[in-house]
Amino acid sequence: MPKIELRHVTKKFGKFIAVDDLNMVIEDRSFVTLLGPSGCGKTTTLRMIAGLETPTEGEIVINDRVVFSSLNGIDVPPDKRDVGFLFQNYALWPHMTVYKNIAFGLENLKWPKNQINDRVQQLLDMLKIGEFAARYPAELSGGQQQRVAIARTLATGPKVLFMDEPLSNLDAKLRMEMRAELKRLHRETDSTFVYVTHDQLEAMTLSSMVCLMKNGYMQQYAPPLEVYRKPANTFTADFVGSPNINLVEGTVIDGTEQMIRLTEGIVLQFTSEKTLGLHTGQAVVLGLRPEHISITEHASLVDATILSSLPSGMETIVALDMDGIRLHSVVFGDLDFEVGKHVGLSFSQGLFNLFDKVDSNNLGQGTLSKA
Ligand code: ATP
Repeated sequence: MPKIELRHVTKKFGKFIAVDDLNMVIEDRSFVTLLGPSGCGKTTTLRMIAGLETPTEGEIVINDRVVFSSLNGIDVPPDKRDVGFLFQNYALWPHMTVYKNIAFGLENLKWPKNQINDRVQQLLDMLKIGEFAARYPAELSGGQQQRVAIARTLATGPKVLFMDEPLSNLDAKLRMEMRAELKRLHRETDSTFVYVTHDQLEAMTLSSMVCLMKNGYMQQYAPPLEVYRKPANTFTADFVGSPNINLVEGTVIDGTEQMIRLTEGIVLQFTSEKTLGLHTGQAVVLGLRPEHISITEHASLVDATILSSLPSGMETIVALDMDGIRLHSVVFGDLDFEVGKHVGLSFSQGLFNLFDKVDSNNLGQGTLSKA
């Protein structure tokens, strides 16, 4: 099965470690996003797989062929790796028509004319840009140019397609459209997509696997909803989801019973399938997704006061004060809440994650109830 493997890949720039001992397997035909804050090593990782950057150490295997090995002195050049690129500045050739831009790579490969024509027609149809075939790039909108750039990249049928923030030049509406387009293209081609973004929503909605990075280290490599539901640590918990997850610090006051004190007055029991091995006095962090906090008028787990209410029609983001702790809740529907009102909160939907405060790692999942 063709796939990409990174084995102990490290990249140093002088003494600075941009990517640290990265191990990952990118399965054939998957859509993997490299996600993380600016400077975390996403682009460097992509460029190393593509052959545009030389790793300091490690091994990279594409389709069972070693394309880089620091030990064996192997470094296959980018054009021999059977990969395609689509970067942020997708610069089309301005003096060539859309048709010619797409055909150019195939002409270089000396494809017969009729085959070039068939392939270009196929791509014009696939990207819905047939009507612009005779135009020049300057006569197209940003989104149309983007689609031509994608067609040009796909023309030679690369098995692996690398994309570095390809939608960042587009406005919000076009970005949404192009996301759907990219997802469709991924389904329709047999290619593996490796995609760099710092936009968590883009990563969540597009990919089959997310590789979340921080300071050159991989933090979590999992399907997007798993990252959302079961974040490996507080960093990944906080990086995905909007509004952000509520991370509430507490102390274990009874390890066996898994009793956690959040404030003087609020003690909750964390019930998990397997015992978490908590110890009394342990500092922990409770992760509460905003949509799992329900606001009630009746019997509830804890009391709170409404600090602000931001209705957007489809949902309302409510800021709450829970005994000095600020929380955000998302309530679905066109509701508004009165500021200053005393309400009850229940944490009844879904599973909650508990993290260790010191190393920030996920300790386990469970439900919350009154102690
Ligand atoms: P962004 O989202 O801002 O593009 P990124 O996650 O893609 O960030 P990289 O471009 O991979 O980050 O860079 C990782 C780190 O390596 C950064 O701290 C960057 O300053 C550093 N770096 C990248 N290229 C070089 C270079 N040629 N020389 C020295 N340092 C570099």
